[in-house]
Amino acid sequence: MTTLFEEKETCFVCGKTHKYTEIGSTNQFGSPDLDTRPPEMARSTIDCWIRCCPYCGYCAPALSKDSPQAKSIVKSEEYRQQLDNKAYPKLANHFLCWAMIQEATGDYSGWAAVHAAWACDDHNAQEASRLCRLKAIQLFQEANGASNMSQTGAQEALMADLLRRSGQFDQVESVCQESLKQNPEKIIQQILTFQMTLARQQDKECHRIDEVEPGSAPD
Ligand SMILES: [Zn+2]
Repeated sequence: MTTLFEEKETCFVCGKTHKYTEIGSTNQFGSPDLDTRPPEMARSTIDCWIRCCPYCGYCAPALSKDSPQAKSIVKSEEYRQQLDNKAYPKLANHFLCWAMIQEATGDYSGWAAVHAAWACDDHNAQEASRLCRLKAIQLFQEANGASNMSQTGAQEALMADLLRRSGQFDQVESVCQESLKQNPEKIIQQILTFQMTLARQQDKECHRIDEVEPGSAPD
């Protein structure tokens, strides 16, 4: 089960302290989605992955951590608009604000936009989730891929899912074919092949890794 606890944290930007909910422990039963989103119960802890200071609006996983330029970005017009953008669920705005801070500081930030897409999925906010995925694609491309995905083909498999779920079916095929040429391990080959099949069917839905090969989800 998931255990949560309250934790006080002092905001780096405004210096004010507030109580936030932190994850003590959680678990995962079943298969992750094709874009690595974990199954329950970890899936539902997403609300705790990002914090938003109620005093100044600074959004980050750790508000007390020194973040270069955060103080000026939080005050910017663009940031204030994103923080209160009614086209997105509140949680998605918090992730997108964090993505903005990361992007401005030259840090890699594609995952924050992926997490924003998941928050939109949970609210069935389809257009908002599409826009979050487009943002994630752009950020990953700028960063030359996700730094935490070193497995051959894993980044392309994620990119294929972002493209497919944002309706860019034509591009899925070329990304997957290019990646298959690098001879990734079997599960990745199967995922890439599955993505191409789904794209040809113009399937934008969420699918899980165990649909590819039941019972063999990679770590
Ligand atoms: Zn603050």
